[in-house]
Amino acid sequence: MAAKRDYYEVLGVSRNATADEIKKAYRKLAIQYHPDKNPNNKEAEEKFKEAAEAYEVLSDPEKRAMYDRYGHAATSSAGGQYADMDPYDIFDRFKDIFGFGDEFGFSGSRGGARGSNLRVKIKVTLEDIINGSEKKIKIKRSVLAKGVNFTTCRICNGTGRVYKVQNTIFGAMRAETTCSHCMGTGKTITNVPPGVGPDGLEKVEDTVSIQIPPGAVEGMQLQIRGKGNEAPGGGKPGDLIIQIEEVEHELFKREGTNLHYDLYISIPDAVLGTQVEIPYFGSKLRVKLEPGTQSGKILRLKGKGIPNINGYERGDLLIHVNVWIPKKLTPEQQRIMQSWAYDPNFKPAPDKTDKSFFEKVKEMFS
Ligand SMILES: [Zn+2]
Repeated sequence: MAAKRDYYEVLGVSRNATADEIKKAYRKLAIQYHPDKNPNNKEAEEKFKEAAEAYEVLSDPEKRAMYDRYGHAATSSAGGQYADMDPYDIFDRFKDIFGFGDEFGFSGSRGGARGSNLRVKIKVTLEDIINGSEKKIKIKRSVLAKGVNFTTCRICNGTGRVYKVQNTIFGAMRAETTCSHCMGTGKTITNVPPGVGPDGLEKVEDTVSIQIPPGAVEGMQLQIRGKGNEAPGGGKPGDLIIQIEEVEHELFKREGTNLHYDLYISIPDAVLGTQVEIPYFGSKLRVKLEPGTQSGKILRLKGKGIPNINGYERGDLLIHVNVWIPKKLTPEQQRIMQSWAYDPNFKPAPDKTDKSFFEKVKEMFS
């Protein structure tokens, strides 16, 4: 894949462009590269998608701020979705900013009306995310009922579009609009079985398999083409859009691609050293603690975190050591503790290897 162009460069605006300037710049590019104007032109399609992605990020103040600070790394999951999207769907998505779509003869969808998209949320655990997984979900989607019969629409002759000449400031223009008789489907229903709505659609339950990619992140959207609602006239079905919701894990805390784990050890184990086992997604990790391990020590296990969603590398597992101080002692234990109170071995004497908390935090984020 070629290096990504800067979003401001893509839209041809300055870094301090106003929201309005960004909108205007995108509108211009979307018209210039619209697939209706550039049939079978792969380069124009790429440019059309590139502009949509840039607009998606720069038109959202939050995403724009992130992009300004971190560049493409911050917004890779926000933008990449356009690469495999149908340009007509992209146009549909930003229709509100065009408003004039019909006057210019651009169609939202091609070949009759398209079914609507279906959106669902799916809860995933760290177990699902760490290596990726397959999930099956039940959805309710509208499909064309059996026994529905159609005939070609006599107003648009099955094209779903009607033309009329409009006088505009640019002179007379041929305008194309959706046929209102068949709602753009190109077909009229002649027979609807009992119990089915006038659009000929009925709700059915469907089971869909979804691949959760390794390193999936909260809010990420997965798209399955054609698994949305079917179109009333038998046109192209909509898509199924699945939004990822991450369930908090009871042992590990996720921070980007890193995982954090709180380990508690006893005073004797901290003093004498020990080996502990940490439960790790169906297996166990062995961790060795040296004699004299301090509370607050952070052990970093390289590559034991979460894979990067882009598939380049894996984060780390950071084990935070906590030495457990007993709250109750027997009289015997109390006597022993008191006998050590003035023992030079028990006097705190941190050296360079016992880094301060702030140094450790710094290291953790490096
Ligand atoms: Zn029609």
